[in-house]
Amino acid sequence: MAEKASAVNTLRTVSNWIGGKETESESTRFGAVFDSATGEQCASVVMSTEADVDAAVSSAHAAFESWSNTSILKRARIMFKLKELIERDLEKIAAVITQEHGKVLHDAMGSVQRGLEVVEFACGIPHLIKGEYSDQVGGGVDTYSMRQPLGVCVGITPFNFPAMVPLWMFPLAIACGNTFILKPSEKDPSCALLWAALLKEAGLPDGVFNVVQGDHVAVNALLADERVAAASFVGSTPVAEHVYKTASENGKRVQALGGAKNHLVVLPDADMEQVADALVGSGYGSAGERCMAISAIVAVGGSAEPLLEKLVPKIHALKIGPGTDNSNDMGPLITAEHRDKVRSYIDIGEEEGATLVVDGRTHEITKSSGYFLGPTLFDHATRDMRVYQEEIFGPVLAMIRVDSFNEAIDLVNAHEYGNGTAIFTRDGDAAREFTHGIQVGMVGVNVPIPVPLAFHSFGGWKRSLFGGSSIYGMEGVRFYTRLKTVTSRWPTGIRAGADFSMPTL
Ligand code: NAD
Repeated sequence: MAEKASAVNTLRTVSNWIGGKETESESTRFGAVFDSATGEQCASVVMSTEADVDAAVSSAHAAFESWSNTSILKRARIMFKLKELIERDLEKIAAVITQEHGKVLHDAMGSVQRGLEVVEFACGIPHLIKGEYSDQVGGGVDTYSMRQPLGVCVGITPFNFPAMVPLWMFPLAIACGNTFILKPSEKDPSCALLWAALLKEAGLPDGVFNVVQGDHVAVNALLADERVAAASFVGSTPVAEHVYKTASENGKRVQALGGAKNHLVVLPDADMEQVADALVGSGYGSAGERCMAISAIVAVGGSAEPLLEKLVPKIHALKIGPGTDNSNDMGPLITAEHRDKVRSYIDIGEEEGATLVVDGRTHEITKSSGYFLGPTLFDHATRDMRVYQEEIFGPVLAMIRVDSFNEAIDLVNAHEYGNGTAIFTRDGDAAREFTHGIQVGMVGVNVPIPVPLAFHSFGGWKRSLFGGSSIYGMEGVRFYTRLKTVTSRWPTGIRAGADFSMPTL
């Protein structure tokens, strides 16, 4: 017992980062952070109070004037340095992700790499933020426009990408001249402090980047603070909608990315070997905890049987285990609670009458102490089943069989989510019709997870995105800046006397 108590007492506490250093909180609330592969608690995280949020906003607010007036070249150089430092620490960052989130090391490294690409994009900020100039719009009159930063921006992020999703936000926000407060997920909070330390090492002035840990208390305090100019949110749809409404009502600019149900449409002419490979990677990679994971297979015409023939053996061959073993394909889920929720969807699918082809509940790995669940496949799901309609966010694929291509398009378009989708076919006409007509924000043709690179922008349609603005790329630059347009005339161009009619220049 004594040994156990002392082990608990030595647990690391993940704290806030305000004004350039780790700061203590007065909070009496703490959350438990688990090693999801063993089920053991590995840290505690402070649940910030409104006073903590006030301190972070004060710090970011005070730093804004000086930072927004810092030369754009200096801001870019800090991004170049940050890129170098992330590359130096890539393995260390990935190890932290693997411990707290559970995804396999190679996948964790890949996710940091995708985030790093946004830092690389932000290195080009002097060019990206350039305005426009029109000479002689009238006699002696010129017009030019510029993009200026907003002020204090906040980022509220989900558990499934503790590196990549914050990197979608803060590099561009900061490069544009804003100051930033990150509120990471309380389930895997440690990465946020790595960003803070690396930014400091890269030369970022204190107060420009801050971290408040915690839950809805911290989020709601951030959204209520009138010194906060803009909020970027990524997470589940109900919370995205709440953040969107609250931030909008409080007069803030907001982009809120929500949940997903991503369909992969298989036409009978597709290469079924390729489709099966695409499905095991995109359905079960990161244990299905990706907002771009494929969770619904739409088998058109006669494609279901030949696909199952290739797919089922590949599912059985997947190697599942701790993320620290790089030979594994899939690690555990984030928490016991989430694993139980995903498992309950398998029960629901069975009760609803879908055919359970592979049952992850009975997989050997579920006997271990971590939060594991085996890969699961349903066939003959229908559009009214919860297992098809709802986001499960775990290693569960549901196949729906439809008779025609048009039926497949109708099915995807009728779904409430519109984050990602893909079509697998050799038919260029069908692919063209699909990409043109589908009501989804990110579309793949023979590409199962069509996540746009950093110089494009990421965002869904329908209930997968609130606020209209996608994240990173040029949409990101526009989100984190506002336009100012100046029309100027020097005294020699000014005609004598007052003008009472609309100027036509
Ligand atoms: P979540 O919505 O539970 O939490 C996201 C963030 O919101 C966390 O920081 C959390 O602390 C905070 N939060 C939770 N409840 C809140 C409340 N009531 N009020 C205010 N803040 C609250 O999401 P999650 O479980 O961490 O992440 C998984 C979800 O994120 C999935 O739905 C997934 O599809 C989605 N996601 C979407 C994208 C995308 O780009 N569209 C990317 C990654 C994840």
